[in-house]
Amino acid sequence: MARAVPAVFGSVFHPEMPVLAYENQAWQAVRWQSAQDLSLAPGAHALHYGSECFEGLKAFRQADGKIVLFRPQANIARMQQSARLLYLPVPETDAFLQALTGLVARAAESVPDAPASLYLRPTLIGTDPVIGKAGAPSESALLYILASPVGDYFQTGSPMKLLVETEHMRCAPHMGRIKCGGNYASALPWVLKAKAEHGAHQVLFCPNGDVQETGASNFALIHGNEIITKPLTDEFLHGVTRDSVLTIARDLGYTVSERPFSVAELKAAVEDGAEAILTGTAAVISPVTSFVIDGQEITVRSQERGTAIRKAVTDIQYGLAEDRHGWLVPVVG
Ligand SMILES: *Cc1c(COP(=O)(O)O)cnc(C)c1O
Repeated sequence: MARAVPAVFGSVFHPEMPVLAYENQAWQAVRWQSAQDLSLAPGAHALHYGSECFEGLKAFRQADGKIVLFRPQANIARMQQSARLLYLPVPETDAFLQALTGLVARAAESVPDAPASLYLRPTLIGTDPVIGKAGAPSESALLYILASPVGDYFQTGSPMKLLVETEHMRCAPHMGRIKCGGNYASALPWVLKAKAEHGAHQVLFCPNGDVQETGASNFALIHGNEIITKPLTDEFLHGVTRDSVLTIARDLGYTVSERPFSVAELKAAVEDGAEAILTGTAAVISPVTSFVIDGQEITVRSQERGTAIRKAVTDIQYGLAEDRHGWLVPVVG
């Protein structure tokens, strides 16, 4: 059966969603409700003081019809970390995982075939209806999960031009590892400026020359047999895809170097034939095709190795290669 996938990423949602409420110092049992709208006090803490974080992960329909989630425990752990850092109630692991698997099971009919997938968007918001709490955490919260069938946004040869930004940061350094909406708002001026002034697709944030990440993806260089990416710090988002890609690269015989590197090193490596990749749940790997550094455009000559590593990851997701790292959680079939 053909399952339609909307052209615009995340524009169509499964009609129901699980909602977990934290009230009176306790997480309540899951409620299933319409994903059409959400009733919220206009004074809700998240709407005024940014007590919000989210996750993004996918469910895949495999060749034999089974439906699996990819590394949901990693996303649950990351949202728990985001919640701690934002002083939001921390979701409970088991109830969270059950809400995810329950949603995928209910939405099973709309999980598309490869190379599309079902994207899941857990969202945690502070709901205290008190605008006097500017300097205090929210004591109540909602965790809800949206599900959206999404297509394959990867196309060999599609352009990915990055503006290298050395002056501005994506977000405040202590917020970097929190997956929160505020960080996206914080990056928007530089992203829009890069589009308007350079026709760039993304901004690579490199404050004081330290190569970090783009607005929504991690970054790595593939230079010969070495994959180079920044070691985990508070300043940037610890991507699940980053970890999956590094793990698979090690399996494929690459040397993985998690170390700081500069724009000067990036430029020299690309001129020496290195590849550059973005990693994230939506596309797994997007090969970079060019950089704008100090107003000068530098072309990346090859996308081959990044494309091959990407295939090794998506083969596991779609059940075409063995899941040697225990990343798949079966939901249906
Ligand atoms: C979500 C996100 C990523 C990628 O994380 P994945 O877990 O790989 O999807 C990278 N950077 C930022 C800023 C993000 O929000």
